[in-house]
Amino acid sequence: MTLQRHKYDVLVIGAGGAGLRAAVEAREAGLSVAIICKSLFGKAHTVMAEGGAAASMGNVNDNDSWKVHFRDTMRGGKFLNHFRMAELHAKEAPDRIWELETWGALFDRTKEGKISQRNFGGHEYPRLAHVGDRTGLEIIRTMQQKIVQLQQKDGREFGDMEAKIKVFAECTITEILRENGKIAGAYGYWRETGEEILFEAPAVVIATGGVGKTFKITSNSWEGTGDGHLLSKLVQTLLIWSSCNFTQQEWSGRHQYAEFLLLNLFVVKVESLPTQKVNALCLSTSLMYLRISMQIMRQRQIVGM
Ligand SMILES: Cc1cc2nc3c(=O)[nH]c(=O)nc-3n(C[C@H](O)[C@H](O)[C@H](O)COP(=O)(O)OP(=O)(O)OC[C@H]3O[C@@H](n4cnc5c(N)ncnc54)[C@H](O)[C@@H]3O)c2cc1C
Repeated sequence: MTLQRHKYDVLVIGAGGAGLRAAVEAREAGLSVAIICKSLFGKAHTVMAEGGAAASMGNVNDNDSWKVHFRDTMRGGKFLNHFRMAELHAKEAPDRIWELETWGALFDRTKEGKISQRNFGGHEYPRLAHVGDRTGLEIIRTMQQKIVQLQQKDGREFGDMEAKIKVFAECTITEILRENGKIAGAYGYWRETGEEILFEAPAVVIATGGVGKTFKITSNSWEGTGDGHLLSKLVQTLLIWSSCNFTQQEWSGRHQYAEFLLLNLFVVKVESLPTQKVNALCLSTSLMYLRISMQIMRQRQIVGM
């Protein structure tokens, strides 16, 4: 078996919202980019995000501002967040939403025709730009379209659509390489054949998503096994958040039955309603959960009632 070798200016490991946005930025800076993902292109966990993307556009409540968003974020993180990242996120989010629209996304609208925003747990004002309950799908669709558009432009300029951006799908990275103390590339294998592949590059972006799959019960995609956390640890690069203190847990997910994953998503829906409605719904929802969980356990003869 021969080792395949490739050379790029930038490697982006991960083709979710984060990785694709990084790839666009690198290409627009004139660099050649390899996008590597261990599942199919367009299948990253991002497609499953439902509620929406938080951005203090103030379209539904004009009291909102990046400062309130920043405060909510810091509070939500018990003030352990990397404050500079939280600040940049709060400041830039509205521009990123507009940017997605200029690239072809279409968010839901208010009656006045502005981008609609809805409530979500932890956010003081309605702040989530959304597309029904398929916001992540719209984001990935748009980002993919943007990548293809850049490739078409390269095709016209260089006679090869993959001259500057190439997607390596179903390819798993297992190691980040260093030479003389500097990042030098990455090593991995094709999932289908097991063949080895080596990328040489002076810059590597790790955008491999979360660690949800390290829990037995999770609604996260199979890819979320925290590979990037380990990869960066192994080469001792500095994770910018320096320590990961929290994972998001939703109480229904703690139950041991797959059926609850569906209900888990129901909780997300409830979270996006205005506070008064949430209060009113809370009791009936809890009772519903209890009833369904008892039913499931009874069916499986786990409880004898
Ligand atoms: C059910 C659900 C609903 C959610 N709803 C929302 C919401 O409404 N709003 C919100 O803001 N967030 C939401 N989230 C969270 C949000 O979906 C994630 O935080 C976000 O999508 C992560 O994007 P990402 O680009 O970092 O990673 P991902 O989209 O997970 O992409 C990771 C990429 O890395 C690749 N990869 C991983 N390991 C390797 C490897 N070793 N080699 C090569 N490639 C690798 C994967 O194949 C994939 O392409 C939700 C999460 C869940 C579970």
